[in-house]
Amino acid sequence: DSKYLSDSVAIVTGASSGIGEATAEALATEGASVVLAARRVDELEALADRITTEGGDALVVETDVTEEDDIDTLVETTIDEYGQIDVLVNNAGVMLLEPLERADRSNLRQMVEVNLIGLMNLTHAVVPIMQQQDGGHVVNVSSVAGRETMTNGSGYNATKFGVTAFTDAIRQELSPQDIRTTVIEPGAVDTELPTHITDEQLLEQLSEVDMPTLAPEDIARGIVYATNQPEHVDVNELMIRPTGQT
Ligand code: NDP
Repeated sequence: DSKYLSDSVAIVTGASSGIGEATAEALATEGASVVLAARRVDELEALADRITTEGGDALVVETDVTEEDDIDTLVETTIDEYGQIDVLVNNAGVMLLEPLERADRSNLRQMVEVNLIGLMNLTHAVVPIMQQQDGGHVVNVSSVAGRETMTNGSGYNATKFGVTAFTDAIRQELSPQDIRTTVIEPGAVDTELPTHITDEQLLEQLSEVDMPTLAPEDIARGIVYATNQPEHVDVNELMIRPTGQT
């Protein structure tokens, strides 16, 4: 069967909004049982209700990816419920853009802890299970900012370049064990992501920029494309920009 996702189990981090929410819904539509992980449980419950109403299957696990105990609980709860993990979508992320001269050190730390350490720790927890199963698929959401630097993006760029590098390095270890890896590199997507920027001056500057954006569903389709391939096909990298973004 070339449809890998039917009857699979997929964990999606950052499923409470934006790309993660759209991805969880799209994977569920393809027949995956989806495990919804993020901090905002009300949003996760609402999404789980929508998925089950549409005939899908979802499990909510409150997770802060910066907490190692939460990561272990997420993996244990998934295994208790389903006994397997076929797909891990590491999507949780924060983008606290600011010029370095005004940068808040706690913002720099938060980006590293969520975007990079959380992603690495959860991958570290899930990979042994995929090895036992003789297969699985790790999808890491990086960014165009993981391939190209941008002004005011130093901390964010550092984490996303890290995600891209981490994903390609683990590919070399895991591909011989039939574990696939994909790095997703979205351009501008219309989500809550920029609303968390704390630098007032930059927020004002950004509000004046009119640029094309994708919808979260556009990225979700890319993730479904990568994960629903026959088992001998390993889609390693997808960069998806809105038409018109340079
Ligand atoms: P959103 O802000 O809508 O989503 C971010 C998600 O990350 C939320 O579900 C949030 O959930 C979760 N999250 C944040 N901190 C934590 C944490 N400590 N533990 C667990 N979950 C956390 O933005 P997007 O959908 O745009 O972002 C998703 C990914 O896409 C990010 O990695 C982002 O860097 C990447 N991306 C986005 C682009 C864009 O233009 N929007 C472009 C390129 C990449 P909660 O707050 O409930 O914990």
